[in-house]
Amino acid sequence: MLLTNHVLSGALIGALARRPASAFAAGVASHFVLDAVPHWGDWGSIRRFLQVAVPDGLISLGAMGTIAALAPAERRPAVLAGMIGAALPDVDKPVKLWFGRSPWPRVVDEFHRRIQPEASGRAHIELLAAAAFGAAALAALRRPPGPAARRAPRLL
Ligand SMILES: [Zn+2]
Repeated sequence: MLLTNHVLSGALIGALARRPASAFAAGVASHFVLDAVPHWGDWGSIRRFLQVAVPDGLISLGAMGTIAALAPAERRPAVLAGMIGAALPDVDKPVKLWFGRSPWPRVVDEFHRRIQPEASGRAHIELLAAAAFGAAALAALRRPPGPAARRAPRLL
């Protein structure tokens, strides 16, 4: 799944989470759940992959910055933790490109690769997911905080 969708779903998780640590853990778990849903991919060449991955990475960074800026201060740590956790498993893509090897153990890479039901011609699934995750994250951030969120943010 596109990194932008991992970031937007991580923002939703962070907006609903009470603490940054649980948002981060749920964000990481969400990455593998979303990657297991049929999605756009199967690029055929590194050139085609980069034509999608580079704009996707830049849009993801913009989305992270924008959502962090829009998040109420008391929710910002959890929202950032959710987005970072959800994006983190895909850090292997730029690291492999730049340094020639994955930062993750081989078993993680193999699992990550095997769960992907990718096919070309599924850009519409990614766009629908982005709209849904983005709208849900913004709606969740606009909700008044619950009693737990009104207290000072805790890390654990
Ligand atoms: Zn992934």
